[in-house]
Amino acid sequence: MPCPFIGSFNQAFVKNYGSHLMKQYGKFCPTLSRGFRSLGQDETKCPFIQQNSIISEAPKEMTEDIVERVQPYQYEKFFHEQISAKKKDYSYRIFRKVSRLAADGMYPQALEGAENHRVTVWCANDYLGASRHPVVQDAAINAIKSYGTGAGGTRNIAGNSQMTEKLETEIAKLHKKPAALIFSSCFVANDATLSTLAKILPGCLIFSDAGNHASMIQGIRNSRAPKQIFRHNDPNHLRELLSQSPPGVPKLVVFETVHSMSGAICPLDEMCNIAHEFGALTFVDEVHAVGLYGKHGAGIGEERGLQHKIDIVSGTLGKAYGNVGGYIAGSSLLVDTVRSLAPGFIFTTALPPPVLAGSLAAIRLLASEEGRSLRSKHQAIVRYLKLSLLVAGLPQLPSVSHIVPVPVKGADKVALVAESLMKRGHYVQAINYPTVARGEERLRFAPGPYHTPEMIDSLITALTEAFHENNISFNEFMKNGTCRECSMEYKVDIAYEEPYKYPMQVA
Ligand code: PLP
Repeated sequence: MPCPFIGSFNQAFVKNYGSHLMKQYGKFCPTLSRGFRSLGQDETKCPFIQQNSIISEAPKEMTEDIVERVQPYQYEKFFHEQISAKKKDYSYRIFRKVSRLAADGMYPQALEGAENHRVTVWCANDYLGASRHPVVQDAAINAIKSYGTGAGGTRNIAGNSQMTEKLETEIAKLHKKPAALIFSSCFVANDATLSTLAKILPGCLIFSDAGNHASMIQGIRNSRAPKQIFRHNDPNHLRELLSQSPPGVPKLVVFETVHSMSGAICPLDEMCNIAHEFGALTFVDEVHAVGLYGKHGAGIGEERGLQHKIDIVSGTLGKAYGNVGGYIAGSSLLVDTVRSLAPGFIFTTALPPPVLAGSLAAIRLLASEEGRSLRSKHQAIVRYLKLSLLVAGLPQLPSVSHIVPVPVKGADKVALVAESLMKRGHYVQAINYPTVARGEERLRFAPGPYHTPEMIDSLITALTEAFHENNISFNEFMKNGTCRECSMEYKVDIAYEEPYKYPMQVA
């Protein structure tokens, strides 16, 4: 609707005197008076302004130097804040420069820092030294010479070699399962398997141990399936939760045999029995047990004759088997389902030839008589360390496995003790949040068959000094190997010759 008042003027007059007219008469106009109050929002409603474009857009040449600048997001500031928060609460991770040596007479030592100090390594998960065993090394070297260093693509495209299939057959045999599937790591194996299974099983419920490793937690989260958490290694709590769950729906019970940070071993038989009583499948992570327990090194399941009660077992090729990669083993159809549907398996380059050959050689080595001998020595040296700590009055968390945790409360303190040890030629990484809960910081020792009693004696002296240096009190009842109270001499014996006793196998 044209404005009858303005419309009576010619256009040139309006253009020249528009602002004056508006100032004088605008307040009498029902449309413009509103426009005055909120010009900018209502201007489109005024037929006068629309037609005559009194308030027209300024020409481009006039506005190009007043471009409004929107500040871009401050990415670096954000990252700085994240890192500062981690540094403030001592959870910022500093990787030590440590190159482990593999040659005979050198292992388990490493070159540390820019100046290549020689240190003894106490925290590697290459538990039995398989990474430097000549048989494993030769297999990897020969595979490189025959097949090159890389797989050349995903399993689907270029990487499904004969060796890949041989390794899967060997893993399946080790765990007494019809099938196995290898992944680029066990983190990926756990994540891909759990997220895929729990997503596709209709209405699947997950029962997860409170101490589970991040890889399983990640898989469970990624599945978006409902989960219940039971207290760590507590079969009664597992039963309580399962008994409240609806019958007839798919369920997964997820836990580890040997706990990576405490060294605890789960009540495997009881937990499997309870899971099966309520119709659940058991998913059991044997990452810190494969190669180390059981007659052929298949883990706690084999040692206790319980492999048949584990529906899906996961393991790593990167710790006792001295290579890299992870796997699951289970029924043929289950494994085929994961192979067919898990993105973490499908869309990534296959494991390379030296890793396949090295892993195959390591599994065979640790399943042999030599493997049994290495396990026997391993257990003996672990016992020696535990007893030596006890005799020195140094603290240790109760562990029934090869993992020996020494508690040092406080992220700052544990880092200082680790530093004091390094100065004395012993490398052990301080463990703090988020790997363990705050207040549960520790040093995690993993001695192996190539550590000698002399190395352990030197470690105990260094640890005692490190505790003193950092004002950490402990029950120091010994002085020069004798009790301060009664002068009795304490000596820890190591008995390599003691045969490792395997429990009776249950058929
Ligand atoms: N599960 C547990 C209990 C672990 O401790 C780890 C690694 O430390 C993994 C799974 C992942 O294994 P990988 O190193 O092969 O990714």
